[in-house]
Amino acid sequence: MIGHLVSHKQPILVSLKHYYNLCITIAFSAEMSCFTAFSGSKCVAHTGCWEEVSGYDENMNTIRTYQVCNVFDSSQNNWVRTKYIRRHGAQRIHVQMKFSVRDCSSIPNVPGSCKETFNLYYYESDSDTATKSSPSWMENPWVKVDTIAADESFSQVDLGGRIMKINSEVRGFGPVSRNGFYLAFQDYGACMSLIAVRVYYRKCPSVIQNGAVFPETLSGAESTSLVAARGVCVPNGEEVDVPIKLYCNGDGEWMVPIGRCMCKAGYEAVENGTVCRACVSGFFKAAQGDHKCLQCPINSRTTSEGATNCVCRNGYYRTDSDPSQMPCTTVPSAPQNVISIVNETSLRLEWSPPQESGGREDVVYNIICKSCGSGRGGCTRCGDNVQFVPRQLGLTDTRVHISDLLAHTQYTFEIQAVNGVSDQSPYSPQYASVNITTNQAAPSAVSIIHQVSRTPNSITLSWSQPDQPNGVILDYELQYYEKWNSSLTRSQTNTAVIRGLKPGTIYVFQVRARTVAGFGRFSGKMYFQTMTEEEYNSSIQEKLPLIIGSAAAGVVFIIAITVFIIVCRRRSSDRPESEYTDKLQHYTMSPGMKIYIDPFTYEDPNEAVREFAKEIEISCVKIEQVIGAGEFGEVCSGNLRQPGKREILVAIKTLKVGYTERQRRDFLSEASIMGQFDHPNIIHLEGVVTKSSPVMIITEFMENGSLDSFLRQNDGQFTVIQLVGMLRGIAAGMKYLCDMNYVHRDLAARNILVNSNLVCKVSDFGLSRFLEDDTSDPTYTSALGGKIPIRWTAPEAIQYRKFTSSSDCWSYGIVMWEVMSYGERPYWDMSNQDVINAIEQDYRLPPPMDCPSALHQLMLDCWQKDRNNRPKFSQIVSTLDKMIRNPNSLKAMTPLSSSVHLPLLDRSTPDFSSFSTVDEWLDAIKMGQYKENFANEGFNSFDVVSQMTMEDIHRVGVTLAGHQKKILNSIQSMRAQMNQITSVEV
Ligand code: AMP
Repeated sequence: MIGHLVSHKQPILVSLKHYYNLCITIAFSAEMSCFTAFSGSKCVAHTGCWEEVSGYDENMNTIRTYQVCNVFDSSQNNWVRTKYIRRHGAQRIHVQMKFSVRDCSSIPNVPGSCKETFNLYYYESDSDTATKSSPSWMENPWVKVDTIAADESFSQVDLGGRIMKINSEVRGFGPVSRNGFYLAFQDYGACMSLIAVRVYYRKCPSVIQNGAVFPETLSGAESTSLVAARGVCVPNGEEVDVPIKLYCNGDGEWMVPIGRCMCKAGYEAVENGTVCRACVSGFFKAAQGDHKCLQCPINSRTTSEGATNCVCRNGYYRTDSDPSQMPCTTVPSAPQNVISIVNETSLRLEWSPPQESGGREDVVYNIICKSCGSGRGGCTRCGDNVQFVPRQLGLTDTRVHISDLLAHTQYTFEIQAVNGVSDQSPYSPQYASVNITTNQAAPSAVSIIHQVSRTPNSITLSWSQPDQPNGVILDYELQYYEKWNSSLTRSQTNTAVIRGLKPGTIYVFQVRARTVAGFGRFSGKMYFQTMTEEEYNSSIQEKLPLIIGSAAAGVVFIIAITVFIIVCRRRSSDRPESEYTDKLQHYTMSPGMKIYIDPFTYEDPNEAVREFAKEIEISCVKIEQVIGAGEFGEVCSGNLRQPGKREILVAIKTLKVGYTERQRRDFLSEASIMGQFDHPNIIHLEGVVTKSSPVMIITEFMENGSLDSFLRQNDGQFTVIQLVGMLRGIAAGMKYLCDMNYVHRDLAARNILVNSNLVCKVSDFGLSRFLEDDTSDPTYTSALGGKIPIRWTAPEAIQYRKFTSSSDCWSYGIVMWEVMSYGERPYWDMSNQDVINAIEQDYRLPPPMDCPSALHQLMLDCWQKDRNNRPKFSQIVSTLDKMIRNPNSLKAMTPLSSSVHLPLLDRSTPDFSSFSTVDEWLDAIKMGQYKENFANEGFNSFDVVSQMTMEDIHRVGVTLAGHQKKILNSIQSMRAQMNQITSVEV
């Protein structure tokens, strides 16, 4: 304000915050004249000018004013000008004037020229350059703001102290752009006094609004102008909506807020939203927002100020989906009060929830099934075949129904309680466990029946063994009917030819298996139709060359196969069906005939692979771990998930990188061979991966691996019936191969695989190890025309490479011996040449310990020198079946002496005179692990050992039934030998 034209100490107007005075109060001294108080004035008339005089305001305070009152002289033009006023960036200037005006009508005899108004002007200038004569005292160069009239005028002037009526008027002007300006007041004939003038501009002050700081902003040039100002978030605030703006209006007020900021995570708004303050220790704020910091939930804490979350205390966890304000939780305690109800091979388990849920409501239960049965050592995880209803993992109810367990088997079930945080705990879930033993149970149902061939009067069927045999299958019963005439037939194998049927007729078939526990359920109904006579006749004609071929031998047979292949190929190109349908065609085209096709008879062996092995998408295969080393690369276990089928465990043989074309062909030849077989005792080919690297052969997974090592690991752990059951399976597989005209050439326990149900399957159809240049494996000895596993091979095959199903039969006898001796090496440490010589001189392997004589007799039959005298596999199967049906036949242990077969020295009953200590004897019978136990219990001489009873054997810590038997047997022959010695001495 340039001129409070008053001598009052206080400004007359209250200063508002959005007003900005251009000058602070100036008190005019009494000496100031009309010319000096303002920087200049001009009197046009001579009667007087603006003059500075003292007076009083309404409150009787002394004030000084500028007055003029020349109403009796006409043509007045009196100017008074302010000092230079700096603009300070303002664009619009406001002027408040306080003044009083004498009412013309109250002045006696006043002329008509008397006025009650005055004019306000301004003049812009960059510097204070005004003089008495410049700018000129007239409109233009001055700019007129307005003519100001009084709201209230007064009738009498009393400058001696009378109270005046004071008017207040405000005018604004702009835009102004020079550095400063002057104001001027023009009187043109009024009687008035100018009491105070206040000059100011308006601005919007710096403000924090909506979380942002806005700078001080001056109002615009016009009263209606809006000036935009950008805001910046306060520290630790974050923009939510952009842009962040406020508008400053002509009155210096902020308006129209746009956008906003909020305190970021870990910070909360305080002091009316003008500050974002870090959350204090023990409090957190998870996200940006207006909300306050929250106290850490139970079992959690902060590690610093400004925490965005609270970390769980040791042993407490949170899942990804747990909200951050939820308390940290822990794992549940074990389920309680388990009840188990066994029903044959099914089981119901019920339990109560754990005492401690860990603070969560998502407790579920997993069932871990371990089978500890079959006399095998330790417990192993149950296979896939065990069924859990509603499911095995993630049970929400506290009960489960388990079925398809093995009969007569001990199981341990662990019921784990887990919740959403169990997988974060380093400890395994807490569980309650229960041990149960299943009862005897009938076999499960046969799942599928295949038609192998048909004629007008017969249908040949085969089916797979039930998934849960629950014992050794004695035979199958096949029921079939056409309309109401139903018939039954029995089969000891899983194939049957049903004769005497009507041509062109549909029959319904159902099959069920039988074990000592009785019959299982019938399979579902399957419909097969006999051929019509016309179909038969045309098929005979079509296959004529083939039938001739199969009837003849040697070269003719090979020609027949070639014709067969040609026929098949033509057929397969005619029909756009799958490779598997094609394969079935091979077996069913010619009535009653199935033959194996050597993949090497194909011009392009890859074609054989395409024909017999299904190509599997590599994306369906998941390799889990390496389980062995094969001829061509690693063997792995894994999973196979094919579209529309349930995931199964598989073994994956891989072909190592850098293979030659020949190696690839030889590797895949095994798949081309295996793919032609479909039998429960032949390893099943799932398919091959040839279109990506590495090349793979995928087969069903056999949990117990190869038979030789499986037996060695479980020495003495099986009943004779279980061992015979295994042998029966191998014989059934070999019968099937023999029926297919396939000669294995390498039948040995190492090439039999065992699954979790103890089902044995013939495997290893690779050809490569027979090839001359493979020198890696000492089991195979080079012989003329290839390599031969001497100990397993029939003499005629060693001598002149006569490999037939009869030479496979010899090998089968050796497998029997390996099985009954729990994986002992045939002919122990004898050299190959000694073995050949011994066999030549009619020596044969003696019965293994505890081997029923009937079984040893069967071995000896397999080892007949004349191959024509050896039993057929079909005979072996039926002999073994008889033994299983009549277990008494397996009781006799006395070795049968045979005039033809002279047993080799029986290594299982050693000569005691050759041992000087008990330790030596224990080593010789492979029970060396008990040496210390014997010594500790005082059994350290043959005298005391020979007196040992079963209780003594138990007492020295021999708990495995097989080991107890072995030791007891050896003690018995020790006694017998001692008696002989005694009697000789006598
Ligand atoms: P192979 O090349 O067939 O002699 O296989 C090498 C080893 O891999 C065998 O001795 C078995 O231990 C293992 N193996 C092969 N095939 C399977 C399978 N289908 N299931 C389980 N293990 C297998």
